[in-house]
Amino acid sequence: MRDQINKALRAEIEKQNVPLAALSGDLLRWYDRHARILPWREQPDPYRVWVSEIMLQQTRVEAVRPYFERFMEALPTVEALADAPEETLMKLWEGLGYYNRARNLQRAARMVVEQYGGVLPSSYEQLLSLPGIGEYTAGAVASIAYGIAVPAVDGNVLRVLSRLLASEADIAQPKVKAVFRGIAADMQPSGRPGDYNQAMMELGATVCVPASPRCAACPVAHSCMARQLDCAAALPIKSPKRERRREDRTVFLILCDGKVLIRKRAESGLLSGMWELPNVQGRLSEEQAIRQMEEWGIQTAAPREAGESKHVFTHVEWWMQGYIGMALHTRCTVSGEWAWASWKQLQESHAMPSAFRYYREVLQALLADE
Ligand code: SF4
Repeated sequence: MRDQINKALRAEIEKQNVPLAALSGDLLRWYDRHARILPWREQPDPYRVWVSEIMLQQTRVEAVRPYFERFMEALPTVEALADAPEETLMKLWEGLGYYNRARNLQRAARMVVEQYGGVLPSSYEQLLSLPGIGEYTAGAVASIAYGIAVPAVDGNVLRVLSRLLASEADIAQPKVKAVFRGIAADMQPSGRPGDYNQAMMELGATVCVPASPRCAACPVAHSCMARQLDCAAALPIKSPKRERRREDRTVFLILCDGKVLIRKRAESGLLSGMWELPNVQGRLSEEQAIRQMEEWGIQTAAPREAGESKHVFTHVEWWMQGYIGMALHTRCTVSGEWAWASWKQLQESHAMPSAFRYYREVLQALLADE
């Protein structure tokens, strides 16, 4: 059934008669002149391409650049990544979000060391079998680092193809992505497959941008159906994602002798294994907050409000309010998943997700001079 749908969609697209295969020359010539200089492009070895592609998932190029440079300095090889202590890895990833990407990266690095002698495999299928590597990343690494002719279709490429073909197919649907992947493969020249993939992505990132495509600067405008039909800004069609759930939370900044109480999250689920400021679901009153701290073994003077903050994850939004509690004395355990951390430790070793960024700033003012 899926094959039939894919064939029908493909036939519909082919009716447009866009000379797709002939466009790769225009794209490559444009890429040679306009490609941005990026640290992972200057030295495209498999490890650097892989790490950069994982970092770039859900994150902008400019935000990734300093993270990538720091990461490569600290962990320059697959072996170094495989051997890195978890705290080091999380600290290097702190603020990038989607922390499972980092964990999968390390799991895959360990497999590469054990099974492939520390060198990323050059086969698309073997790459695909590693944790955290999907069709897109396997295609990017295989084509850019190893020169293998496989497509790498991300959101940018889907947008460019939708517009070139004036396709109204919903790119959120896996079957549509599969068809576009086949079309991208047909367009790919046998020489320079990695540059072709990067040219498509670069075009989507810098010219064929979401709201206002810069068609006058586009190297394939002469063959673009959306431009001819004046419908580029309305494409691609993408069905909306599920609405995010709202979750109210109360966050505690509990201080004692120039340190703050933090705890480690569970090893699975959202932000797994990261350090956090203690928090509970719901918006607690001052009295409830005092009782909650007592349950943790902490007695404080009347807590002060620490302000409100909101953080948006993929499926949930945290709407947070904070309390600052000065611990009078503490029976709270400092082992296991709880710890008292100085500002220096928060800076240097205890990775905390950006969901708590606002409260970290509050803490900085309270602790930085201690
Ligand atoms: Fe995108 Fe415009 Fe180029 Fe078409 S002509 S591919 S809409 S930038």
